[in-house]
Amino acid sequence: MSKDYYHILGVSRDAQEDDIKKAYRKLAHQHHPDKKGGDEKKFKEINEAYQVLSNKEKRAQYDRFGRVFSAGGGDSPFGQGGPFSGRDFGGFSAGDGSASGWDSRNFEDMGNIGDIFDAFFEGMGVRQKRKSYTRGSDLELVQEITLEEVFAGVHKEIKYKTLIACQKCSGLGYFPNEGFKNCLMCGGQGEIRESRSTIFGSFSQIRACGQCKGVGQLPNKTCGACSGLGRVTGENKVGVDIVAGVHDGQLIKIPKAGEKGERGAAAGDLYLRVKIKPHPVFKRLEDDLIVQKEVNLIDVLLDKKIKIATIDGKEIDVEIPKGFNLKDKIIIVGGGMPRLGSYGPFGMVQGKRGRLLVELEIKTPKKLSEKAKKLLEQLKEES
Ligand SMILES: [Zn+2]
Ligand SMILES: [Zn+2]
Repeated sequence: MSKDYYHILGVSRDAQEDDIKKAYRKLAHQHHPDKKGGDEKKFKEINEAYQVLSNKEKRAQYDRFGRVFSAGGGDSPFGQGGPFSGRDFGGFSAGDGSASGWDSRNFEDMGNIGDIFDAFFEGMGVRQKRKSYTRGSDLELVQEITLEEVFAGVHKEIKYKTLIACQKCSGLGYFPNEGFKNCLMCGGQGEIRESRSTIFGSFSQIRACGQCKGVGQLPNKTCGACSGLGRVTGENKVGVDIVAGVHDGQLIKIPKAGEKGERGAAAGDLYLRVKIKPHPVFKRLEDDLIVQKEVNLIDVLLDKKIKIATIDGKEIDVEIPKGFNLKDKIIIVGGGMPRLGSYGPFGMVQGKRGRLLVELEIKTPKKLSEKAKKLLEQLKEES
């Protein structure tokens, strides 16, 4: 990873949103360039880190690839960003043509002018109704995996309850075969022109028709099974590949696997939070693994090799180095976890692993026979 945003904010990888916000506020306050002793470079760095870690989507991307591909996510090389990612999807498209279907028709031209009017009227306490079919909400689920699965990477099939497309109407909320009629509210125009008098004068404003959501037509028959919303509560299933080296608490984004949107509006995303189960043998410290090994004092003195279990299910022979300080750990380079950064978006780079650290626990014999004692006495004289 190029920059460790977690380190910059002084939070752990599985820090909750609240903790990140708290850490950010404290640091931003401390390093603000306007303050005495402030540091502009540091301040910028803190802001950059916060912008990524406070945004679920960016954080998921950063956790996985060590960087964020773009602010909008639109040019993500994985086709996951999609046109809707990262934006609050409203009824008016901002003129970039990214919206589709009913949501954007007829209103693209208004672009930012609509926004300005919105802000203006909202500022005056006049709430403008921007009706559109609601995008599905994002979901967050926890997925537990074992350390062995972290080591090798794993595919999981996840089942969960959420809003899914209504089967009866294929998620549309109505039956197109039954035809359409003109909307009475807007006379089939899809938009309504309104004049508002304010202390600054009179303003004419065009807004989307609330009845037909700007389409101008209404279906003759809506679906009863979903009350015309196109979505119902049900079970969703999705497969996800969790890459090797994943960290505890890491978020994985599964685009469009959240709640279904109303009447074909964009679905929400699913965020999977990885939780790694504690392992009975190995302790993980970033990419290193720590294992404790009981050894017999005599074996150590006689330079016997010891057998150590590894995370890939094998066993290796390890020699205790001569003059080894028993308080130290034996370091086996490449015996740890795969490094997350070594799995780029275009495949994995082999051979990048953390270390295996062996902590020795020396077992001394409880009882010594007379003969053994004598032999040890001789040994003492010898050395
Ligand atoms: Zn209408
Ligand atoms: Zn339906």
